[in-house]
Amino acid sequence: MATTTKYIFVTGGVTSSLGKGIIAASLAKLLQAQGYRTTIQKLDPYINVDPGTLNPYEHGECYVTDDGAETDLDLGHYERFLNKPTSQANNVTTGKIYQSVIQKERKGEFLGKTVQVIPHITDEIKHRIQILGKSGDYDIVITEIGGTVGDIESLPYVEAVRQLKWELGEENSLVIHLTLVPFLSAAGELKTKPTQHSVKTLMESGVQAEILVCRTEHELPNELRQKLARFCNVKKDSVIQSIDASTIYDVPNLMLEEGLDTVVLKKLNLESNTPNLDQWNAFLERHKNPKSSITIGLIGKYVELQDSYKSILEAFIHAGAENEVKVTIESIHSEYLNGENVKLKLSHLDGVLVAPGFGERGIEGKIDAVRFVRENNIPFLGICLGMQMAVIEFSRNVLGLSNANSTEMDNDTPNSVIDIMEEQKTIVDKGGTMRLGAWECELKKESKAYQIYNTEIIKERHRHRYEFNSNYKDQIESKGMIASGFNPKTGLVEIVEIPSHPWFIGVQYHPEYKSTVASPHPLFVAFVKAAHTYKKKTKNATMAQNK
Ligand code: GLN
Repeated sequence: MATTTKYIFVTGGVTSSLGKGIIAASLAKLLQAQGYRTTIQKLDPYINVDPGTLNPYEHGECYVTDDGAETDLDLGHYERFLNKPTSQANNVTTGKIYQSVIQKERKGEFLGKTVQVIPHITDEIKHRIQILGKSGDYDIVITEIGGTVGDIESLPYVEAVRQLKWELGEENSLVIHLTLVPFLSAAGELKTKPTQHSVKTLMESGVQAEILVCRTEHELPNELRQKLARFCNVKKDSVIQSIDASTIYDVPNLMLEEGLDTVVLKKLNLESNTPNLDQWNAFLERHKNPKSSITIGLIGKYVELQDSYKSILEAFIHAGAENEVKVTIESIHSEYLNGENVKLKLSHLDGVLVAPGFGERGIEGKIDAVRFVRENNIPFLGICLGMQMAVIEFSRNVLGLSNANSTEMDNDTPNSVIDIMEEQKTIVDKGGTMRLGAWECELKKESKAYQIYNTEIIKERHRHRYEFNSNYKDQIESKGMIASGFNPKTGLVEIVEIPSHPWFIGVQYHPEYKSTVASPHPLFVAFVKAAHTYKKKTKNATMAQNK
């Protein structure tokens, strides 16, 4: 344990998408594995108050914390690596900073003063950076600064770091700069110049990078490390190579080999021990040595962008490792799915997940997918909108309510089996107004959900405005789809399942947000297991047929 909280800032240069979040999470993992209470925070320089109103095409998945913050997807990596929940304080945006400074100005807190970027905006940034540290819960706070140095939007953040370094003192803070060392194939050489420029740009704002983490496709030779150290004004052991890895979960070990944790701890004047990565490495062992494989169809409308369903994809990696099964995800665009091609596109799958989403685009394809897997006994997991589609499909094709729909898609439907939540009816603002964060859910004893969770009360995270319309509950249950999870206070239906189907579960919440390496989500684990069982069964049946 440290006596004062230590702060590590992670900046990025040369290009975006270098994986600052993974480096920050990997370093945090190594520090946590040495007994340091570590957390990670992301500062996003955009003006949106949060990414909740951003299209996934723009910004990837919106990640939701227990306390209902709509955040950057990097927070998902932090939780998956550290197995510790994050909160509102772990994601700060320029929108949030300005919003609170302007609110204070209106209240008269700066009476008589001109409100300026320096000191008012930078003070607010410094305050937000230190909220987690001052809570007394952490020895080390890692702050990842979004964007790339030199961006106009990043300037106040870099300035806040410059000021904080003086205020915190030498041994209490540290700047890590993540850069790219590109390989020019025509010249057959790795190039250091972009890194030199990027470090110089940071220096122009008065911040010296103390450790360089260099993303590269090839090993960095000794002389090149020497050159980087000399030109960038850092020690040679502070030039850390971050070579492309086959999985993000290899990065903590790669950073360990490079000694990132040792250099960091030395600079912060903290004791360095051997990190205990036993559990982590046991996961990697299982992940890399699967005994069998399955294919799951992910039906969504943002399938061309990997980041849009980040937490779902990662949850499958955790659940796959737990089952020692390799899970291949086949992304299927719901907009191009219909009653005619659904068999062709889905019949080879061992399980189908219908993804969360908003709006009308692609929903009929999702409904066709649910029908196919329901009628063909293929394991199904529906998440949020996916669960709502399962209810609509069942109402249309089993109850015979051909025009059943959600009022999100058709406000005038005579059979609104999915309807807007009561408290949402008067809400007009779009930002941060959904039903968000972790809510309790009570499981019905004799249900599959109860068997899977093995407990009566669970807590899962939500992000939606619409819900199962309880007026249809009796009718739906009488035909074989049961409600198996409820909000204990309001009675809202949170889980539906079909007991006569081998594995058919729809959940109104997002289990994927809570799956971590150390604690794979039980629903995903059970779903992968069911898909594996299904595969073995269908394979045996085909073999018997061919005999
Ligand atoms: N659009 C649906 C709702 O608001 C589902 C949301 C989601 O899938 N996250 O209720």
